Parts: sequence; C-alpha cells; structure tokens
Amino acid sequence: MKALRLMGWKSEPELVEVPKPTPGPGQVVVKIGGAGACHSDLHLMHDFDAGMMPWQLPFTLGHENAGWVEAVGDGVTTVSEGDAVAVYGPWGCGTCERCRLGTENYCENPLGAPVLSGGGGLGMDGGMAEYLLVPFERLLVRLPDGLDPVTAAPLTDAGLTPYHAIRRSWPKMTPTSTVVVIGVGGLGHLAVQLIKATTAARVIAVDNRRAALDLAGAVGADHTLESDASTAGAIRDLTGGRGADVLLDFVGADATIELARSAARSLGDVTIVGIAGGSVPLSFFSQPYEVSIQTTYWGSRPELVELLDLAARGALHIESTTYSLDDAARAYRDLHEGRVRGRAVIVP
Ligand code: NAD
Ligand code: ZN
Ligand code: ZN
Repeated sequence: MKALRLMGWKSEPELVEVPKPTPGPGQVVVKIGGAGACHSDLHLMHDFDAGMMPWQLPFTLGHENAGWVEAVGDGVTTVSEGDAVAVYGPWGCGTCERCRLGTENYCENPLGAPVLSGGGGLGMDGGMAEYLLVPFERLLVRLPDGLDPVTAAPLTDAGLTPYHAIRRSWPKMTPTSTVVVIGVGGLGHLAVQLIKATTAARVIAVDNRRAALDLAGAVGADHTLESDASTAGAIRDLTGGRGADVLLDFVGADATIELARSAARSLGDVTIVGIAGGSVPLSFFSQPYEVSIQTTYWGSRPELVELLDLAARGALHIESTTYSLDDAARAYRDLHEGRVRGRAVIVP
C-alpha cells in the first residue's frame, strides 16, 4: 500500500510503498476514511532537529484518523469488521495511573518521548496510508450514528485538543465572561464552536489572515480582530477595560503569548496550545494578579467520547477540504502557506 512517510528530520515527507499491516493479538487494522493534516506535522518537517524527539525514522504521518475496522486480531472483543471508528491518537502504556483514567496524553511511561507521548503518526506509523495498525483495541472509539469517518477524523485532534483546553477552563466561561481564541485554523475554528456549544461566554477570535477571521465569524465568533500591536487594547475595549477571562493561544509564538497574557483579566486563564516555540519573560508584574498560564497537550479518551457525541448531534461544523493520498504533500504546502480553510483531510 502507499504511505506518506517522514524519512528524515527537516525534510518533506515522501509517498512510498509499504506492506499492508496485519493485526496481532489485541490489535486492529483500520481502513482509513480520513486523516487530518495538522500544523504539528509542519513543525516536525521544518522545525525539529534530529534528537529533539526520541522517535525512530521513518514513520508514516497522520495522527488524526478515523475509518472502518478492516481486520481484528485474536481476542479483540469491542469492535468488529466494518465498524466505523475514530482512533484515539496519544498512545500511552495503558497501565500507568494516567492511562487507566483514559488520560494517555499524559502517560507517565510513554512509548515514545519523555514529555510528549507518541502515537500513530508521531513516532509510529500513522494514518496517511490506506491502512493503519492500531496496537490496542482500547484506542478505538466507535463512531456514533450521524458521523462518518471523513468528517470525524479532525475531531480526534483538531477537535479533541481545544475541547480539553476549553473543558478545563469551563468554570471561568460564565455568561458574563469573554474567551479569546488566537489562531483560527484547524483547531481554532472548532474551538470557537466548542465554546459556543458548551458555554454562554462571548468569543473574540484573533488571526492575522482575513480568511481565517471570516471563517471565525461564520462559525459563531462574536467579534473578530486582526492580530497586531493594537489587539490587546481592542480586547480591553471590548471587555469594558477588564480583559478576557480565558485566552486560548493556538499559535504559541512570542507575539501571541505576549498578547494573551497582556489581554488577560485578573484570575484569568492563559492556555498555550500552539507549539510555534515562542517564549516570554515572566515576573510577578508581567500579567494581572492570579492569571494562570498553562500548556495543554491533546485530550483524554473520555473527552473524545463526549466530543463525538456532541458532534453527532450536529453541534459542530467541521470545515474541511479533502485531498487524495497522492496529493497529501500539496495539502501540507497549502497549510504552510495559509491557504487551508479549517482542516485539510487526506482521503486515501
Ligand atoms: P493551522 O495552521 O490550521 O492554524 C493556525 C492559525 O493561526 C492560522 O489561521 C494562522 O493564520 C494563525 N496565525 C499564525 N500566526 C498568527 C499570529 N501571529 N497571530 C494570529 N494568528 C496567527 O494550525 P492548527 O493545525 O490549528 O495548529 C495550531 C497550533 O497548535 C500548531 O502550532 C500546532 O502544532 C499546535 N497543536 C498543538 C496541539 C497540542 O496538543 N498542544 C495539538 C494539535 C496542534
Ligand atoms: Zn496534531
Ligand atoms: Zn501510561
């Protein structure tokens, strides 16, 4: 079968021929319906040096996957051939306390890196291929009626990651509060909708592309702002001088982290999700009192179940453009050049 593989660090992936996988005991082979192209893959291709991640190359890209069960190994009981499934992406050890609670994104005995746990498409073979070997059946969630794999694929990361970041700040997303979403791409356009669907907070969306702000408005943002030196002031103006209660940074550059903390209200949350590698100096006075600054990584398995249920009820519009596997390299180029609206999804 064909697979889009990362062959070397700081290089473009290549479409190559690899053997079709067969499932061992407890394993499942999924026929890929959709595999989302995440901006994190661009960081892998362009920013990460050899040795930064303890992952062996080559591996097949694609960590945002859904499809149909093609074959099951001995002892698999929870899914059977033909089932439509989403693949939970962070693959942990399955036995540590975090994993047993379903929080494999924070596995304490990860298969891959010591900080970021790996998974299919992140150190192990992922879904930009006709078939994906899922090493443990617990990593599959059956799709509820109303969701098909091509639509559902982005939910496993572009949906799950913001859902987790939003969910942990729910207590601060009250009817009188304001949430700022910085970066309205794959993750951000779902973040806007998840905030609107699960809270009564107002949403301000920020981006430096006009097309992204148009998308933010179309999916329900109350206000949209261009990202420049005046943005923090504009957020204060829109909030009666107070600042925003929660700011979610889906870029993670110096400028966006600085924007997030300088536009925060006291007691607010600043959550850095984007991994553009930015940093800012920190001091007692560098942000209002009791602002919490945190990073989040992906989400938990129970959260994926909740999210799929919400999406199956029609609460989310997943804006996507599909590309064939032969055209996957072009999807990444389009993403790199800011030409993707929502998510690019590879349909093998
Ligand atoms: P994307 O390319 O689809 O969207 C990024 C958006 O940010 C684009 O609309 C872009 O125009 C906008 N942007 C870029 N620079 C900006 C700036 N200075 N000010 C305002 N807007 C700006 O990317 P994505 O796939 O949604 O991923 C977003 C980020 O999240 C990436 O860094 C990705 O690696 C990271 N990510 C993190 C996790 C996690 O678990 N923490 C999971 C998935 C993705
Ligand atoms: Zn991702
Ligand atoms: Zn674990």
